[in-house]
Amino acid sequence: MSFKIFRNFSEVATLAGAHHKDGRRLNHDDLGLIKNAAIIFDSEKILWVGEDKNIPVDFLEKDFIEIDMSGKVCVPEVVDSHTHLVFGGDRAHEYAMRMNGASYEEIAASGGGILNSMQGTQALTRSDLLRLATARAKAIKAYGVGTIEVKSGYGLTFEKEYEISHIIHDLKNVLRPDIQIINTFMAAHAVPKKFSSSYEYMKDVVLPLLDKLGEEKILDCVDIFHEQNYFSDEDVIALFERAQRHNIPLKMHADEFNDNKGAILATKFDALSADHLLATTQDGLWALANSKTVATLLPGTGLFLGKPQANARAMLDAGVKVAIASDFNPGSCHCDNLIMIASIAAPLYKMNQVELWCAITLNAANALGLRSQGAIVEGLKPRFTFFQAPSLDHVTYSWGKNHAIN
Ligand SMILES: [Zn+2]
Repeated sequence: MSFKIFRNFSEVATLAGAHHKDGRRLNHDDLGLIKNAAIIFDSEKILWVGEDKNIPVDFLEKDFIEIDMSGKVCVPEVVDSHTHLVFGGDRAHEYAMRMNGASYEEIAASGGGILNSMQGTQALTRSDLLRLATARAKAIKAYGVGTIEVKSGYGLTFEKEYEISHIIHDLKNVLRPDIQIINTFMAAHAVPKKFSSSYEYMKDVVLPLLDKLGEEKILDCVDIFHEQNYFSDEDVIALFERAQRHNIPLKMHADEFNDNKGAILATKFDALSADHLLATTQDGLWALANSKTVATLLPGTGLFLGKPQANARAMLDAGVKVAIASDFNPGSCHCDNLIMIASIAAPLYKMNQVELWCAITLNAANALGLRSQGAIVEGLKPRFTFFQAPSLDHVTYSWGKNHAIN
């Protein structure tokens, strides 16, 4: 079988130590930084990584393709594990209203908020929504992100949510193999006005639709917005039990506005991730630390809305697996540059360099159930992100500058 050798990287951050420690309690050595590095791999897996001068002779005696990577830096593939990128319309006016002092209630009263995006989405055809979603995924990829999770949830009727889950499935096929798309079902995003309760909406739309899509086997995950006046403990339990019948992994929007014990509920179901976690208190942190559930933080959302941030340092110190994602969406974070978001967040969160890179590679992949990528070690999948930069330090140093090589 033929294989490839990438030679002479300025630096490769393998995250070998982070991989060995399952992405928790990391210190600087866990970055696994190698200068003047080479990587050998075939189409399935990584075969060797180390200093270029130490390439084993056996490899050099066989047939291979050699590519010079001088002046370039390599990290495990960057993963955006939380986006809502299928929607119509935009909410630029709401951002301006908020800047000019309007409250959440005033924005909602003027027709803003998630129902605004629902109308914008309802107004577009399947092919228009696919075209927009494809362009957005490519824009995210341009910054070096190779795997993108995409949630449904702006249709909010049986028919439109069914269509959106299929749009994400189409997106997966259109973009493969350049971009790996994870299809997450999130019809439980908000309760449409015509339903008297979240229970009614779950019963009439969300659960029957999950059964239909579950039988079609196009979903990779389910998700739900667990929050006061959105979806309750009972709704989460009903969704998760139904998803488990279809063998679909679980994710959850948890503790964003209030400490609803969402993180604890997520860990009870072995959810892949609990996301947001701004209001999670100590009992939630301990539950996360003692589970496989990844804490996915979305710092762009707090910055965009001018709100506080999750207590990342307390989570990291407790031994929680922490990921960072963009939360790209029309209302609360319209930013497709995950590396910029993470670069700005690291000092806010008091994260060290390896915690930052692990949060957007290894732990982000694990938050999607992808256990065979996220580090550059023998046997894992050859999924990489490359930057044109003299060192890894330069990538996070220049906010918003795109160093990625596509
Ligand atoms: Zn979200």
